[in-house]
Order: sequence, then structure tokens, then C-alpha cells
Amino acid sequence: MINVTRPYLPDREKLNNYIDRIYETAWLTNNGPLVQELTARLQEYLGVENLLLVSNGTSALQVAYKALGVSGQAITTPFSFVATTSSLVWEGIEPVFADIDPESFCMDPSKIEEAITSKTTAIVPVHVFGNACEVEEIEAIACKHKLKVIYDGAHAFGVKYKDRSLLSYGDAATLSFHATKLFHTIEGGAIIFRKKEDYEKARLMIKFGIDDADSIVGLGINAKMNEFQAAMGLCVLDEMDTILEERAKIWNLYQRDLGGLVRILKLNPYSTNNYSYFPIVLENEETLLAVKHAMNEQRIYPRRYFYPSLDTLDYIVPNPMAAVSRDIAARILCLPIYPGMKEHEVAAIIEVIESCLKTKE
Ligand SMILES: *Cc1c(COP(=O)(O)O)cnc(C)c1O
Repeated sequence: MINVTRPYLPDREKLNNYIDRIYETAWLTNNGPLVQELTARLQEYLGVENLLLVSNGTSALQVAYKALGVSGQAITTPFSFVATTSSLVWEGIEPVFADIDPESFCMDPSKIEEAITSKTTAIVPVHVFGNACEVEEIEAIACKHKLKVIYDGAHAFGVKYKDRSLLSYGDAATLSFHATKLFHTIEGGAIIFRKKEDYEKARLMIKFGIDDADSIVGLGINAKMNEFQAAMGLCVLDEMDTILEERAKIWNLYQRDLGGLVRILKLNPYSTNNYSYFPIVLENEETLLAVKHAMNEQRIYPRRYFYPSLDTLDYIVPNPMAAVSRDIAARILCLPIYPGMKEHEVAAIIEVIESCLKTKE
């Protein structure tokens, strides 16, 4: 069986050593030594400052909205994992969708201004599949209308844009370290703030609003990362070079053989590739379902990331139809890609797609 992804399990002995350290100190959570170590190492690895580790990528979004005072309406993308939108709704913020660009799959900046109302306080774009948004244009719009920008960077671990961390753009960028993501801590996430003062606010928010002198200084929630999560993260981080190398190999094989056959992701020319996903866009939904069915018959399980388009959710305030997002969502399929996947498995997937598309002709 080949799934769309497979959680990466790092060296067991190394993990055991970290767990021994947890047993020695009996410090299990609340900014323990391993969380501190992982924070420092991630800041260095990513080339960012003001990084706050949290319990998962969804709480990262929620805490970022709260710390930056987002309320009313936020302009976001309809083409993402549901958490980008559901976290807004959960925080009482109304999502207003700006449609996507059909080639980059990221928010189309030319659609943002028409979505701004007197209630808009923020823009929440997604670097979807690790592809960089039009960060400069988005920043200019945000500046002009005095809006906060929170990037959902759940897919953008390690991506550089013009030689600078993509995650350093925006008032905040969030990461998910869920087991299926490029880098993971089993469950986990992080927020990278532009300003130290926002970071400080969020640091208290994730531990009930209690400060270092044990006073309750404001409203908080529990969104702390624990030491076992950090231990996993420290081990996976040591193996990032291998993880990226293996993913690149698979990504390049797909690109070589499928690039002329189906539409593939058009990467932002100023950004690096982190090889986190390999989406293909088929001609229509019928073809997608045929390809998916043919793969499933061989016990290969690609995923429909991201389907459905989020403007179809029934718990949001109705939005104008996001036509591009709906069109792409109906016919995009993410192919399996993960370290340890064999070349013959990649070849088998390519073959299924090729033969499926040939019989359709
Ligand atoms: C995975 C993901 C999230 C949610 O992260 P969790 O760690 O699973 O809570 C949010 N946004 C996007 C785009 C994601 O892919």
C-alpha cells in the first residue's frame, strides 16, 4: 500500500537519549529544556526570530489572530486545508475569500482589495504546497489599508524567498508540525512573529495568560508544546538533509515524466522548493476520479488536497463563488511523496497515470 504520505520516524536511539533526559528531570511540559533547545535550533535553521512553539498548527493560527487583535473579517484563501478557515470562524472572525491564481494556487493579490470592507482587519494567505505567495504585493495592500497579515505557512517549512526565510514575511507566519508534514513533532506547530512585543504577548497567551511571576496578566489558553514533542522534533531536525534529498528525488522523477502530460505546480520563481507536495491538475473531475480509481485498484492512495473549495462550507457566512478555487479543487490530486518511497513505486504511479490518460484520449 502506498499512501499520499508516511510520517517520518527518526533514529530510535537518538530519541531514546532525549527521553532519558526527560526522565532525569521529570520536566514534561511548560517551556522545558527540550522545547527551549528546539526553539533555538529552529530559529537558526529557518533563519528567523521570535519563534514560539505551540501544541499544533491550528492553535498557532488561533493564537496568532488573538495576539495580533484580529476581529471582524479577515480575507483568506478558499484553497487550503480546512483549518485555515475553521480557525477564523472558531475565533469569531468572518472569513471573506479572495480567489486564487490558477497556476500558483495561492491567493491572487488582485482579488484582495475588492474584498476589503470596513470590518476587515487582516489578510490570511496560505503558502499552499510550500509555494510562496506574492508577498510584496500583499504587504503593500496591507500597508495601505492598515491590515495585519498572518501567513499560514503550514507547508512552507524551510522555504526561502529571495534568499530570506519566507516565514519572516507578514506580522506573523504559522507552521504545522503534524506527523504528516515535512518537519514534524508528532503534533505541534509554531508562530513566527515579526515584532518582539507580539511574540511576548503570545508567549503568555499560550500558558493561560500567566506570567513568569505567577500573576494572571491577561486572557490565555493552553497551547503549549510538551517535551516529548520537542524530543521528536530535535531528532527529525537532525535528519532534514536526508528528508529533503529523498523528497527531491521523487519530486524530480514526477516532474520529468508528468510535466508534459498534466499541469503541475508553477513555483514562484523567487522561492526555493521544499518538495513537500506533488499536486497534479487533471483536465476535469471525471478524469481525476478515473485516475484516482485506477490508483486505488493498485493500492495507491493519493489525496484530493484540497477539496472541497472552502467557499462551499456550510458554516461560513455565504461568500461570492470563488470560481477558480472551485475549478482547481475539483480536479487536483496530490501524489504520494515521502522519504523511503522507492523509485519503482514512483514509476508504478507514473505508469498508472499515463495509461489512464491514454485510454481517455
Ligand atoms: C496541516 C495544516 C494546518 C493545521 O495544522 P495542525 O498541526 O494539523 O493543527 C493548517 N493549515 C494548513 C494549510 C495545513 O496544511
